[in-house]
Amino acid sequence: MEFILDTHCHTIASGHAYSTIQEMAEFAAKKGFKLIGITDHGPEMPGSCHLLHFKNLRVVPKEINGVEILKGVEANILDHTGKLDIPKSVLEDLDLVIVSFHKPCIKPGSIKENTQTLIGLMEKPYVHIIGHPGNPAYPIDIEAVVEAAKETKTLIEINNSSLKPGSFRKGSKENCYKILKACKEKGAAVVVGSDSHMSFQIGNFSSAREMIEELQVPQELIVNTSVERLKEYIKKK
Ligand SMILES: [Zn+2]
Ligand SMILES: [Zn+2]
Repeated sequence: MEFILDTHCHTIASGHAYSTIQEMAEFAAKKGFKLIGITDHGPEMPGSCHLLHFKNLRVVPKEINGVEILKGVEANILDHTGKLDIPKSVLEDLDLVIVSFHKPCIKPGSIKENTQTLIGLMEKPYVHIIGHPGNPAYPIDIEAVVEAAKETKTLIEINNSSLKPGSFRKGSKENCYKILKACKEKGAAVVVGSDSHMSFQIGNFSSAREMIEELQVPQELIVNTSVERLKEYIKKK
């Protein structure tokens, strides 16, 4: 299975990441990747950029070094009504929106609360990807989330960074395995994200790849293998 795109990349704008958009695109080009999603953390993440950063992304070219750039955000979920840290009007103008639970922005709820929050967000047409849903700090009803993802054409992320030893999201492996298995069974589409915080990590999908191969998830369900397929999902919403 050949992976040609990475939808989860952070730049210096996130405050705790270390490359520019230009450096990210250059590395992606060297790797032979066709597309990257620039998804810096929303403004409520300590040290991340101001809302203006996202409003002004139009100055970034659509393509750098032959790599298509999707201008996006990893928005923070702020409460269990699904409130995000970027207004809807700005989200609607972005190419790619990931929504994620992060410790500095929201306390974990019950399984029921976390699940309902994600399902509510998936119903929004401007939410494309659920970021690292395998994080055990925010337990979810996997079957219900995957079912809703399929129905709403939202992509479920398998976050390669969560699977690496020493990850901040310790214990994600077992959940990601269950999530991937449920996606295969229900026919829900999956996106692998590197969650790179420096250019050299772009497209590092080794742990996710092992899991995909072990579970024999069909290529049609992994959107990283085709720019067209990724765009179909984004458009369908
Ligand atoms: Zn980060
Ligand atoms: Zn995240």
